[in-house]
Amino acid sequence: MNATKKGEASFSPEALRDKYRLEREKRLRADGSAQYVDFSGVYADFDKDPYVEPGFTRPAVREKTEVVIVGGGFGGMLAATRLRQAGVDSIRIVEKGGDFGGTWYWNRYPGAACDVESYIYMPLLEETGYIPTEKYAKATEIFAHCQRIGRQFDLYRAALFQTSVAGMDWDDDARRWIVTTDRGDRLAARFVIIAGGVLHKAKLPGIPGIETFKGHSFHTSRWDYAYTGGGPMGGLDRLADKRVGIIGTGATAVQAIPHLGASAKQLYVFQRTPSSIGARNNQPTDEAWVKTLRPGWQHERIVNFSAIVSGRPQEVDLVRDGWTYIFEDDGSARATTPEEAAQQRLLSDFRKMEEIRARVDALVKDPATAEALKPYYYQLCKRPCFHDEYLDTFNRPNVQLVDTEGKGVERITPTGVVVKGKEYPVDCLIYASGFEVSSEYTRRLGFDIRGRGGKSLRDSWAEGASTLHGMHSRGYPNLLMFSTTQSGWAINFVHILDEQAKHAAYIIEQCRERGIETIEATEQAQQQWWEVILGTLARGVGFGGPECTPGYYNNEGAAFGPREIRMAGYAGGTLEFIQILHDWRNSGDLAGLEVTRAAATPNM
Ligand code: NDP
Repeated sequence: MNATKKGEASFSPEALRDKYRLEREKRLRADGSAQYVDFSGVYADFDKDPYVEPGFTRPAVREKTEVVIVGGGFGGMLAATRLRQAGVDSIRIVEKGGDFGGTWYWNRYPGAACDVESYIYMPLLEETGYIPTEKYAKATEIFAHCQRIGRQFDLYRAALFQTSVAGMDWDDDARRWIVTTDRGDRLAARFVIIAGGVLHKAKLPGIPGIETFKGHSFHTSRWDYAYTGGGPMGGLDRLADKRVGIIGTGATAVQAIPHLGASAKQLYVFQRTPSSIGARNNQPTDEAWVKTLRPGWQHERIVNFSAIVSGRPQEVDLVRDGWTYIFEDDGSARATTPEEAAQQRLLSDFRKMEEIRARVDALVKDPATAEALKPYYYQLCKRPCFHDEYLDTFNRPNVQLVDTEGKGVERITPTGVVVKGKEYPVDCLIYASGFEVSSEYTRRLGFDIRGRGGKSLRDSWAEGASTLHGMHSRGYPNLLMFSTTQSGWAINFVHILDEQAKHAAYIIEQCRERGIETIEATEQAQQQWWEVILGTLARGVGFGGPECTPGYYNNEGAAFGPREIRMAGYAGGTLEFIQILHDWRNSGDLAGLEVTRAAATPNM
């Protein structure tokens, strides 16, 4: 069968399905996620923070506090802000970086910008009175906004920067968490909120010979401007006489490569799987539009976007960009059966990916390079990218795409990178190889959590997670986790983070008001929540999936065992998950939480 739509070339869904399957099979590997290594051991230097002066010291802090928040990125800042708004003053924020920002502290690579519209992505715009300067703000502006939030909500006095949590132990006599850090701090907290981020533990490909490379190398989340020159806006003048290699072509590389291509003497882009590159169409903020905004505008816009990208068409599409286009008019709304709806969505996906491939042909002059840059998989198998200069960069004479045909780089030598037996000599090698997503939870956190009776969370979750709302886990009283495990998921992830922050602040506020000393999920509530998650997995249409090309959305294509399935998120869509949290709070009965009350007056 050939599917056609007015004005478009025809395509055969069967042929595309076969091609997608072949491309997937090329990329499957027995080692799955184990192909990556972290920054420990011989790679420890990769983890150094290039943005702070070396030699920072401070006296250790020993104190009682009401809430410790682990992480000073958007999640931690939103939690602290919502707590401050609820009147909770006694807060400590422990953050590895030298400032607030999380992702936007670490990711300062050239070209970094948000790929979800800044008016919905950057939090607390109405509260801070700030309007981003562009539809897709650059990293520097987003980082500055994090600092603005820190100042406005008086979060700096709560922060312990350049500090990593070393461990957390529940003291059942004191009814407190004892949080220790790598700077000798000892914080005795009634509550701990873990807002450790989702994409924060960088990974390196475990390519043979990687440790033998003698040139300069770094990961994109620790960009070395001292070596490259320039800054987040580009102008990498010290690369003018350098041969540079970059490994990876995901969302990060797509933003950095145009700047590397513009500055390096020679750039080799080592590709395993091409990204889909839609149009970006960034624009400066329209002052006339700003004048039309009324109170509540940001929340309305956030909800409108999340509805559309959860497959709920809206009367108006306020954001109107590449993301909403993916979900626009996929025909499923007119279908009369679920099977027909699924078929319509599939055809729409083929059609929109054909457009993505046609865009490559239109922009890349060399036909062989163009062919290699075309993604052959379903659109949501990998994070869709949007960029107006990336593809054109491959027309530069100093830029060469080295396509590994799905196999990845073969070997790294002291002087270069080997693909299909050929060595490409480089002075500098940049890893745009992403972050751990499906590895074990406490491994990504970097510390274990020992709850009631000293039971480690690593052990408790060895066969998979058990939670209520992805936030509470039995045996770990007064611990509130922000993660994707059995929790909500969103393309605009900050939407979920803010709802988690409001939820956690509500719970802590209620404990204070009602004289509750500890809260802990019941076994029954965890079981019921798991059944809810399973129900959504059965009907969910989401990212990744077993038929997808390997990547972090589908655990690198490895089969999902019982443990991995229990790490899954709520698959019924962003708004549905948020509604569940709203309804739970509105009921006011703290359902599913076992509570204990203080014998006398509540302490703190
Ligand atoms: P990704 O995990 O998306 O990309 C890693 C890249 O490294 C992939 O292209 C991968 O290929 C490649 N790779 C891994 N091993 C090898 C190897 N042995 N040989 C060759 N290539 C290899 O990481 P990113 O940092 O790009 O993005 C992570 C996420 O961060 C995004 O998905 C997005 O959610 C977020 N992000 C958001 C941005 C924004 O808002 N502006 C910007 C950047 C990132 P393969 O695909 O075959 O595995």
